[in-house]
Order: sequence, then structure tokens, then C-alpha cells
Amino acid sequence: RDVVSPDADLDERALEGALRPKRLEDFVGQERVREQLSLVLRGAQRRGRAPDHVLMSGGPGLGKTTLAMIIAAELGAPLRITSGPAIERSGDLAAVLSTLQEGEVLFLDEIHRMARPAEEMLYVAMEDFRVDVVVGKGPGATAIPLDIAPFTLVGATTRAGLLPAPLRDRFGFTAHMDFYRADELELILRRSAGLLAADLDDDAAAEIAGRSRGTPRIANRLLRRVRDYADVRGDGRLTLDIARSALSLYEVDVQGLDRLDRAVLDALLRRFRGGPVGLSTLAVSVGEEPETVEVVAEPFLVRSGFIARTPRGRVATPEAWAHMGLTAPPDAAF
Ligand code: ATP
Repeated sequence: RDVVSPDADLDERALEGALRPKRLEDFVGQERVREQLSLVLRGAQRRGRAPDHVLMSGGPGLGKTTLAMIIAAELGAPLRITSGPAIERSGDLAAVLSTLQEGEVLFLDEIHRMARPAEEMLYVAMEDFRVDVVVGKGPGATAIPLDIAPFTLVGATTRAGLLPAPLRDRFGFTAHMDFYRADELELILRRSAGLLAADLDDDAAAEIAGRSRGTPRIANRLLRRVRDYADVRGDGRLTLDIARSALSLYEVDVQGLDRLDRAVLDALLRRFRGGPVGLSTLAVSVGEEPETVEVVAEPFLVRSGFIARTPRGRVATPEAWAHMGLTAPPDAAF
């Protein structure tokens, strides 16, 4: 697995758990989201009611799961975790909903990938705390309404735009998670280094932060790779030199671009002469699904100023040509 991939494998998941902040006050960055959420939670607590359902949108590794866990912890409520792809039939969702405890927080990751019939069941559950269990088949089928305990749904999606409007409208609050600033990632790295008992120099923290694609999960992963390097090839101290050598060994580019980012840029520049080119054409040329390119690679490339979205398609900026060490043709579209 790519060290800079924002997705995590099993081993990484265990380590990530250990580095997860447990309370809202330890959650670094996303100030606006934190403040908004804190108000929603405190308001509900004052009224002694379960808070409104919360939708979180943002790319992989930006802290959606962490925030869901924090919501449950702040409310002192139990947490149930499931995901859209795990709910294949409405019965799967009914089984979860009907066993929720009062006030429980239900975290539904990748909510946009849930099966359609389950989605409709969720609308009713969110609004009326009720599920209609269908008994029998065909013309004789009847729906038996079943009351469920009031709960708080925390839905996560990589793109809120992918959700059908009736579902989106049933959330009382949407938290938009953005990429983290380098100084925020530095804070996260220092905190993680403390938890891992790693001796991290400030300039090394800055170096790793700058190459973490604005993503805490990647920052923590790079930190562990740098620590390996320091332990094996150095004296255990994470210095700037050690960080640079380790990151270049793992082919993490100075801007933090990963293999997919670079493949997308390379195709855009060389094959399509800098664009404009449509997203699906671009995705096919790097052998990926359009959704992967759109959700995983493109947001960071746009935010770093390498790609611009135009009505005619994706266009490379002069910075992209320079970063990839290529010369733009005279007729390149900027
Ligand atoms: P995915 O949707 O891919 O599961 P996610 O958005 O749910 O990703 P998390 O699993 O919550 O991401 O976060 C990944 C890791 O990054 C966690 O181990 C956590 O320690 C760290 N992390 C995320 N956000 C923060 C933050 N604001 N402060 C400190 N650490 C963070």
C-alpha cells in the first residue's frame, strides 16, 4: 500500500485508533466545524434531547470517523458504527435501527453508497423515529410500524453533492471538512509524536506537515515511516535530515503529491497537452474510476493550484508544468 494513500489498511487502523483525539478540545483544526458542532451538542444537552442528525462531508482521512467518536463521547452516549456498503437490504438497516438504545449515536460512513430501499427507511427513522417493517410478499405484504429509540445519526460522505436531496435535507447540520493547514498538521504531528514517544524536531515536523497532502491520516502515517527510518538508520531522533531522507525513500514529493496525483498530472500534461479534458477521459487514461479521481486526487490538486476546473474540462496551470519539470506548449490552455 502506498504510504501516501489516504485510505488505511488494517494495521494502520489499529495505530490510528491510538492516535485519535477523544474530545472536541483535542481535535485540531477545522475551527468552524468544531465551534458549530460544539453549539449543536451543548444546545441539545441543555434541552435534554438527542441532538439533530449531523452530516459530515470531506475527503478520506480528514477526521470524519474521529469526529463521530468525539460526538458520542461528548454526549456520553454509546456509538454504533456501520457503513453504506454494509447495508445491502432494508432489513439490514431495520436490524440496526430497531436495536439502538435511547440517545445512541449511529455513525453511517459512506452513506451515499447505501441501497435505495434502505435510504427510504432511513428518511422515516430520522424524522419520526419509526421503521416500517414489511411482512410478507406481493399483494399481501403489510408494513408494520415499529417505534425506535430517539437517536442521532452521524452520516459521512466524501461528497455531500452525491446525496439525494431528501436525505440531505433531513440533517440538521452539515460539517464541511476541509484540508488542514500546515501549522495544524504540525500540531497533530507533535501530539502524535508525544503519544508514540518519538523525539521529533520542530523542523522535521514542519517538513512532514508540508508533505502530508493536508490530511491528518497521511501526516500520522508519514510520521511512523520517518520514525522507522530514524530507528534503523539513525539514532532514533527524528531530525530534518532524517525526515527528508525517509520521505524521499518513500517517494513522497515535496508538495506531498502521491502516485495517483502525479499520474493524473502526467496524463493531463503529456497526453492532453494540459487540457481542457473531461474528468472521465482523464480517469480512463490513468486506469481509475472517475469517482476516485474526483474524490481522492482532484480536490488536493485543485487546492494546490495545479489543476483548474473550467466549463470545458480540467486544465493544467503553469505551476503544474513547472512542478512536473515539463515545458508547456505555446498553445497550452491556462
Ligand atoms: P475515512 O473516511 O477514510 O475513514 P476519516 O475522515 O474518517 O477517514 P479518521 O479515520 O477520522 O478519518 O482520521 C484519520 C486519522 O487522522 C486518525 O487516526 C486521527 O488520529 C487523525 N486525525 C484526524 N483528524 C484529526 C484532528 N483534527 N486532530 C488530530 N488527529 C486527527
